[in-house]
Amino acid sequence: MKTSKLALRENPLRFDPGRAARLPLECSRCGARPSFYTRRYSGESLCQECFVETTVDKVRRTIAKHKMIERGDRVGVAVSGGKDSLSLLKILHQLSAGRYELVALTVDEGVAGYRDEAVANVKGLCSQLGVELVLVSYSGLFGFSLDQALDWKDEREQSSCSICGVFRRRAIDEAAAKAKVDVVATAHNLDDYVQTFMLNLLHGDVDRLGWLDLATKGEGFPIRRVKPFTEIYEEEIALYAYLSKIPFQSVSCPYMHEGLRSEVRDDLNEMEAKHAGIKNVLLGSALEVASRLSDNESAKTSMPCERCGKPSSSGLCGVCRMTELVRQHSKYTG
Ligand code: SF4
Ligand code: ZN
Repeated sequence: MKTSKLALRENPLRFDPGRAARLPLECSRCGARPSFYTRRYSGESLCQECFVETTVDKVRRTIAKHKMIERGDRVGVAVSGGKDSLSLLKILHQLSAGRYELVALTVDEGVAGYRDEAVANVKGLCSQLGVELVLVSYSGLFGFSLDQALDWKDEREQSSCSICGVFRRRAIDEAAAKAKVDVVATAHNLDDYVQTFMLNLLHGDVDRLGWLDLATKGEGFPIRRVKPFTEIYEEEIALYAYLSKIPFQSVSCPYMHEGLRSEVRDDLNEMEAKHAGIKNVLLGSALEVASRLSDNESAKTSMPCERCGKPSSSGLCGVCRMTELVRQHSKYTG
């Protein structure tokens, strides 16, 4: 069954109407409060408070296990304004307590009718938590908005998200440099991770499997990147966000459902529904493959881009190659 974003926003239990009826009465952790949610892959049935506490604790353990953040780090949190990244900001803020400093890094891609609400949500949470915000935009950095960069849909093979992703990664790096951070934390969750792994396999991008290693920087990233939600299911972040009163965006990015990723997401969700925990197993395999491939130096080779001088795996970096394509085809940028 597919998870409707609207259903999640109204009531996270509605995406499986039979689930509430099947829950045991008491939380299997505290034994005091009524259970609310069952982690099918582990068998625990948790009350709301224990669900939130164990989710935060899982993030804390992932950070410690993979040495993602060190004491005294200045941590840039990539916050798009969606529920996942706002939840990450809130959890990292809760865990930081004197150990490290946080700054939110937000990119305004320039998508009419979509970004304004997200940026307002980011500003709201940052001011509530007292976290500094650094905002950059595609227009300011590249000279065109995402709407303008994507207006040649009929002529191109790449999905909108793959074009956007190239610019977004650079934009985050620019924001990170501006904010002088030591490390950038992104809200990629377990589902994102295994989808990317499968997509790289399906596209034959074997080198990119090595970039998924949690200990590498990935192609051309000058600043270390970490993914503290790597071990958390997307569904559980949605529940955390709902219970923590994180605002859900009422509009989604209009470009998000293009491409193979949506199909891979649906297929993996279907498999998880039949075989609880299978995404967890796939994550373990993906991490192992990524770690073995990242030991292979050729997967990480980097040189300065001939045009912009940023690290690149070939003569021109992805951003300069994509900018050239956009300038050739988009009617706005000439
Ligand atoms: Fe960019 Fe895709 Fe995200 Fe939209 S959904 S902001 S196109 S990556
Ligand atoms: Zn370049």
